[in-house]
Amino acid sequence: MIISGIVFIFGLVIGSFLNVVIDRLPRGENIVWKPSHCDHCKKPLRWYELIPVISFLFLGGKCARCKKRLSYQYPLIELVSGISFVLLYSQAADSVGLISLIFLFCLFLVLFVIDLKEQILPDELLISLLFFCIIYVIRLPQADRIIHLMSGLGAGSGFLFLWLVTRGRGLGFGDVKLSVLLGALLGYPNIIIALYAAFLTGALVGVILIMSRKAKMRSRIAFGPFLILGTLIAFRWGGSLWEIWLRLLV
Ligand SMILES: [Zn+2]
Repeated sequence: MIISGIVFIFGLVIGSFLNVVIDRLPRGENIVWKPSHCDHCKKPLRWYELIPVISFLFLGGKCARCKKRLSYQYPLIELVSGISFVLLYSQAADSVGLISLIFLFCLFLVLFVIDLKEQILPDELLISLLFFCIIYVIRLPQADRIIHLMSGLGAGSGFLFLWLVTRGRGLGFGDVKLSVLLGALLGYPNIIIALYAAFLTGALVGVILIMSRKAKMRSRIAFGPFLILGTLIAFRWGGSLWEIWLRLLV
């Protein structure tokens, strides 16, 4: 219980750092050597404005100086990280597994939010994911290694084809790169589950947005978040979903 509490607080602190990455990476700002500041008045934040979640609640979601509203992104990302860290801690088999899961979670969360906000998947993050994939695939048994490489190539060529056909209007090239990495990470049949879930949830959200008039038929919706959502579904429930699927088909 005490350990869960410590892991939760650690997650909050890392979440606070992820917020900085989400805000600064797309703008090319320095992530480490620059004090955090208010989005509106640009004044540097003081120590009591930097405590995850608590500062936001204590200050009523407003900047202490200019009193303008602060984004809900800050406490939300911190809480999601805190809760996820506790869940990952309870799932991981050993410390290497835990560090891998936490690293992957942070990458996915940052990619998800940046693509949602800015419609880009920054190369810095994709390259970090590439390194993770290389180490992961090298450590797999020989037979699995080939399956995972083929899954990456398969998913990538499918997305490259879609990118070429839609001339980059339906998908970004970042989605093509991400699909290769997710294929290599998930292998077969999990990549099929992930892509199916991504297209299904993407279409569903698209229809909801068009019906609620928040988007038009031609507006662009980032696809990265759906790919990541699909990947999480495949990670967690891929095996059982595949079994259900096969039973329905046979
Ligand atoms: Zn301010």
